Amino acid sequence: MRDYRKFYIDGQWVDPVKAADFDVINPATEEVAGVISLGASEDVELAVAAARRAFDSWSQTTREERIAVLEKIIAVYQTRMGEMALAITEEMGAPLESVSKPLQSAAPLMHFMTTLEVLKNYEFETQQGTTTIVHEAAGVCALITPWNWPANQVACKVAPALAAGCTMVLKPSEVAPFDAYIMAEVLHEAGVPAGVFNLVNGDGPGVGAPLTSHPDIDIVSFTGSTRAGQMISKAAADTVKRLALELGGKSANIILDDADFESAITNAVETMMRNSGQSCNAPSRLLVPADRLEEVEAIAAKAAAAIVVGDPMDAATTMGPLASAPHFAKVQGMIKDGIEEGAKLVCGGPGLPEGIERGYFTKPTILTCDNQATIAREEVFGPVLCVIPYKDEADAISIANDTPFGLSGYVTSGDIERARRVARRMRTGNVHLNGAGPDPAAPFGGYKQSGIGREWGLHGFEEFLEVKAVLGDN
Ligand code: NAD
Repeated sequence: MRDYRKFYIDGQWVDPVKAADFDVINPATEEVAGVISLGASEDVELAVAAARRAFDSWSQTTREERIAVLEKIIAVYQTRMGEMALAITEEMGAPLESVSKPLQSAAPLMHFMTTLEVLKNYEFETQQGTTTIVHEAAGVCALITPWNWPANQVACKVAPALAAGCTMVLKPSEVAPFDAYIMAEVLHEAGVPAGVFNLVNGDGPGVGAPLTSHPDIDIVSFTGSTRAGQMISKAAADTVKRLALELGGKSANIILDDADFESAITNAVETMMRNSGQSCNAPSRLLVPADRLEEVEAIAAKAAAAIVVGDPMDAATTMGPLASAPHFAKVQGMIKDGIEEGAKLVCGGPGLPEGIERGYFTKPTILTCDNQATIAREEVFGPVLCVIPYKDEADAISIANDTPFGLSGYVTSGDIERARRVARRMRTGNVHLNGAGPDPAAPFGGYKQSGIGREWGLHGFEEFLEVKAVLGDN
């Protein structure tokens, strides 16, 4: 069992001001996998003060000094990737061989490497007549992350914040805090100076709230639910903090009538069910031509049946449990309510998958419904795909955009020009054409209630910079 009760503040592992143990549950076994401390405002005070003290010197380091630190982090991280994958499997249930190792634990490395390239090439100063435009570190950051791609979320904030010269306090999700602890050890070993990076564990009210209203925090970079994003916006308003919010989604996947249905629908189901559907950009609404609905349902059910749900430590498993008991209860409830409200069950449904008796496992579930159904409008964040029929291309675009969210979109067509045209009409922060995967150098973020700002690559880096005009400078 992991004992991760200490916080990392000012370059040291320290005890919390007040002891408050919290058990982290392995969602596959329902057993305690480790223990952390839930912090309080007193711990936040110490961490923010350390970050503030470190800001003057870290923000004045040269590009070369920060490049050297990032290179060291990349080297140290690579020695810990196997351990990281195991920690993620224990804390949130992603299958070790099929998801944790190749995706969950590799993603942080990608973000550090991408940021390193951005830092090497960035123009921190440009000249405009007699004015110098200076891009400099924006300040002390609160980084608040969710549990679904936990180490990825940590890295895609920590890497650009460090590269920009910012100092920071990280509060990872209390549901999945192990990976952040390992990341703190990596940063320590890589020689990140004391106070530049600090880690305080805790829940939203205990640590998140005092961080987001703290007068000495300049930027809040948050990834999580739209509900918490709204609360954070309000908490940050009094001190006019800069905000980057990566929130929920209900992304549409448009399959145009000229697509190869067998491969497009199979890919749509696999992409949706990856990580048990717990991805903010999951293509959870599958938009298909109404006159081919039966064919789509048959291919989709076949693809769902091929998913191996079970023990995430078993190499054959492709889908693990949901991350926590409350989340399991929420997803099960939404499936039941969706069917009661009138959605047609294509496969899956409520209850544990056959042969499984414990753990927060959920059947890959496919429902056919209207875009106005509650299950098609609200984010489930589980392995639940809504198939929604459309009349023609214009109708498909209109259904895709008929949502309060705007994170991602997906289009598959036999004609790439047609797919591009449809992509331009989608009100989302990114659109994947013909099954394309994510690009860590491309901006990631949402329109509408999916958030404010962008992460990853150059755009993610610039979230951590302020812009200063120095006039008469020549
Ligand atoms: P959550 O909003 O419950 O929690 C996220 C983090 O915020 C946790 O660390 C939590 O402790 C903290 N928190 C909660 N309330 C807070 C408050 N009032 N003040 C400060 N901090 C607070 O989300 P979750 O359940 O951990 O994650 C799932 C959600 O995250 C989904 O809605 C998903 O779409 C979203 N998500 C978005 C992206 C993206 O990039 N857009 C990526 C991953 C997950």
